[in-house]
Amino acid sequence: MSVARTRVVALTGLEGSIVEVEADLSSGLPGFLLIGLPDASLGEARDRVRAAAANSGCVLPPKKLTVNLSPASLPKHGASFDLGIAVAALAAADLVSHDSAARVVHLGELGLDGRLRPIQGVLPAVLGAVRAGAEIVMVPSANVDEASLVPGVRVVGMPSLRDAAIWHGGDFTPVDVDPVPLESVDRPKSPDLELADVIGNAAAVDALIAAASGGHHLLMVGPPGAGKTMLAARLPALLPDLDIAAALEVTSVRSLCGVPVAGTLETRPPFENPHHSSSAASLIGGGSAILRPGSVSLATRGVLFLDEAPEFAMSVLDSLRQPLESGRVTIQRAHGRAEFPARFQLVMAANPCPCGQYGSRDVACNCSPFQRRRYLGRLSGPLVDRVDLQLRVGRIGSAQFRLAADGQNSTVTTFEARARVAAARARSAERLRETSWSLNSEVPGQWLRSGSQRLSPRETRVIDDALEGGRLTMRGYDRLLRVAWTLADLDAAPRPTSEHVASALALRRSL
Ligand SMILES: [Zn+2]
Repeated sequence: MSVARTRVVALTGLEGSIVEVEADLSSGLPGFLLIGLPDASLGEARDRVRAAAANSGCVLPPKKLTVNLSPASLPKHGASFDLGIAVAALAAADLVSHDSAARVVHLGELGLDGRLRPIQGVLPAVLGAVRAGAEIVMVPSANVDEASLVPGVRVVGMPSLRDAAIWHGGDFTPVDVDPVPLESVDRPKSPDLELADVIGNAAAVDALIAAASGGHHLLMVGPPGAGKTMLAARLPALLPDLDIAAALEVTSVRSLCGVPVAGTLETRPPFENPHHSSSAASLIGGGSAILRPGSVSLATRGVLFLDEAPEFAMSVLDSLRQPLESGRVTIQRAHGRAEFPARFQLVMAANPCPCGQYGSRDVACNCSPFQRRRYLGRLSGPLVDRVDLQLRVGRIGSAQFRLAADGQNSTVTTFEARARVAAARARSAERLRETSWSLNSEVPGQWLRSGSQRLSPRETRVIDDALEGGRLTMRGYDRLLRVAWTLADLDAAPRPTSEHVASALALRRSL
């Protein structure tokens, strides 16, 4: 007997790294020693592996078994190492082929009955294995579809440890078992919603199209019933399909969160809509034993919608700063650290005041000016500074409803809007092809105010006046320039005219 080896994958955030598993069987007091920085769940792996091996009819000899996971410095947690540990132990006992075990990367949790249980995060784990050069990956039957999304690797699905042992050349008689199915978390696929269903609010629809075209964050302020949620929910439908890298990222985050992925990559931008009572951990990510992504990562490459944004806890709103700045989120805990993607488009909706009726013609608002300022002030500062589009959304009148009922609702359809967005994005990408940016929202204001991008005083007079008169800050000025470029792209104009600049100014009259 000699040392047997195989490989498993440890996930840190979305990054999968190969972990070597070595197993040695020696004479001495029977026992099972697991080393290499195991956390509590790895300790439990020992008991699961022993029971699963016995109940599969692949009994480990009563000797001293030592299993080492390396590198020791890599934090390891979860139950996905069970299969690799069991196969290495069986190889050490010469019950399966050493060579076969060494060639394969193993992923899977063992049940006490010896069946393989599906694990979360199979997609990023297999991606990590393939990047490290793996050619064969063995996974639980229920994870085969998801693992097969990764090209360039042979995926072998196994219902039980006994079947895995037979595949590795073990001399056992096959026994039929029912594979453990995926536990499905209900997550209805959100259909692309129809923009033409929005009645009235033409300015808000224009702003939504501009937001989609330039990738601008958006804040809508208006009374309840103004259709803010309806508008926000339609933004993902206006965005282009995800490219392959984005689709893998979005699907990997879902896989880590236990959302069933099955055999399809998500190709549409996600829409996440956390409630204002959400904790920072559920928004940003966290967890005690295993670090899981939060809403900001589930929304990556898509839209994060904060309805009634001033109602979120200040600490929760503050925690959005890092992802907004870097497109990533880093979670630090005593037992480890994980980084997840969080490149989302932020849409916030807010009532104009605590009672929601300020500015309404029908219902009186009793909030004091101080209460109003303090309410929207909760959003001020670094967060709102990043929001290029800030607009008021009014409640629509009964006249507009009648027009809509008569079929005289002239708003643009989702199909038309998506085509306009795609054309505008193509223009900005072409213009910015020599830079590291592709969307107008990514371009720093200083760049827009320099070189050939600089607009002439004739075009910017209206905002220059506002800046000088103190009605606009420098940051606000830069936001307007970015939006003006997006409006020019939507008009297929080579550069913004004074009308685009004026329209950009009109689109931010909220605060
Ligand atoms: Zn009020």
